[in-house]
Amino acid sequence: MADLWQLSISEALEKLASGDISAVELTRAHLERIEAVEGRVRSFVTVTDQDALREAEQVDRMRRGGETPGPLAGIPLALKDVLCTKDVRTTCSSRMLEHFVPPYDATVVSRLRTAGAISVGKTNMDEFAMGSSTENSAFFPTRNPWDLDRVPGGSSGGSAASVAVGEAMGALGSDTGGSVRQPGALTNTVALKPTYGRVSRYGLIAFASSLDQIGPFARSARDAALLMNVIAGYDPLDSTSVNRPTPDYLAALTGDVKGLRIGVPEEYFVEGVESGVKTAVEEAIQTFVSLGAEVGEVSLPHTRYGVAAYYIIAPAECSANLARYDGVKYGLSVRDGAHDLVETTAITRAKGFGAEVKRRIMLGAYALSAGYYDAYYLKAEKVRTLIKRDFDEAFEKYDLLIGPTSPTVAFKLNEKMSDPYAMYLNDVFTIPVNLAGNCGISIPGGFSEGLPVGVQLIGPSFGEEVLLRAADAFQRVTDFHTRWPELPPQKRATKSRK
Ligand code: GLN
Repeated sequence: MADLWQLSISEALEKLASGDISAVELTRAHLERIEAVEGRVRSFVTVTDQDALREAEQVDRMRRGGETPGPLAGIPLALKDVLCTKDVRTTCSSRMLEHFVPPYDATVVSRLRTAGAISVGKTNMDEFAMGSSTENSAFFPTRNPWDLDRVPGGSSGGSAASVAVGEAMGALGSDTGGSVRQPGALTNTVALKPTYGRVSRYGLIAFASSLDQIGPFARSARDAALLMNVIAGYDPLDSTSVNRPTPDYLAALTGDVKGLRIGVPEEYFVEGVESGVKTAVEEAIQTFVSLGAEVGEVSLPHTRYGVAAYYIIAPAECSANLARYDGVKYGLSVRDGAHDLVETTAITRAKGFGAEVKRRIMLGAYALSAGYYDAYYLKAEKVRTLIKRDFDEAFEKYDLLIGPTSPTVAFKLNEKMSDPYAMYLNDVFTIPVNLAGNCGISIPGGFSEGLPVGVQLIGPSFGEEVLLRAADAFQRVTDFHTRWPELPPQKRATKSRK
């Protein structure tokens, strides 16, 4: 029999409902799994084992008392450390917030709590979500469970790895330029970036507010739908959250994609895409054809300008958002040798931010400075409009688009750290979706030399139902998403002799 940590969320919910297993047993199984693999993978900045067990006991007590538990009651999940959790340290994997304990829960967190879900901990990430490998964490890098010498992607690498290796049944991440989908692709998990405004950003520590969106990681489209059913929806606390009814995403999973019109953007199959990635995506397209989808070619001509526009817009917004870390209000405050407030702020920011965050702040401040605004920021916003138009036109003809999530499989640790541009290019196929504001999902699409390949399905605004329906139909006839990484045995700590 499979171990409890290997169950899907839907299987676990059935077993919990029938009394086959308890929430405490399920939570314990995950905490034990964390104990067993965390030394090798390092998905978590903070494991909240005591809180998790207490919450699990409460779920079991409620159930015994005949109360109707919430839709995710007893399900152990992991939360990216960019989401505020009341009374639980929230670091953004930054020295700046290393000891920051938020006084409130992000809306997604309180929704999960109300649904009865259990948080096992806060996951590692690139500092302030800036990066594609989780190596920019101020604390330690997370490893890819499929090959411990490789990165899990980023910036939500800890969330992705935790789901891939069975430390949590699902997780939340944030996606500004691909930070949910790209680590999903590199770790063989399902990873959804919802439409801008579909999920509340209240309590999500801001990176680039016009691009940031919270999304789920899961091991199947079905499980992702269950998570979306809880986290999606209007929130008056986030002025950009859209007030429109939330569909039942589970009900969208009909298994039927006959006649679904799928567009293949030619710009997504260019030089630079690894051949193993290309092959897997082409095979996925054939699978959709065999399921009755109608596939045709489409062009998104402005794709190649996406990365350049993003690296103006995202740093510009980040330079404004991160101005709040002034060494006074909260977070790190270094006063050694400072003579006045300005010096305190300068020293704190010098010590509190890592190299990549500083690079972004400088890029953004430069792009926004007087005399450069029109040349850079305004131009980038115009490119953004053109990219959105590409998608709008494509969605007149097609229900969704298909391509690779990332041009490469997981790369080695340190491989791209000295070349920021190479790192930035990893997001060439995910960034346009954030710029346009529509939705995208990465699903396990096969393997290239033993490493997972992610297939990206891109949908129109509020097209999450069709994305999840297509992803689920694909998973009914493929088994990539059911495979587990095999971790090499833990190296024994060699005792040093005196
Ligand atoms: N890798 C991209 C960046 O570094 C995207 C990050 C994200 O989506 N948070 O900005």
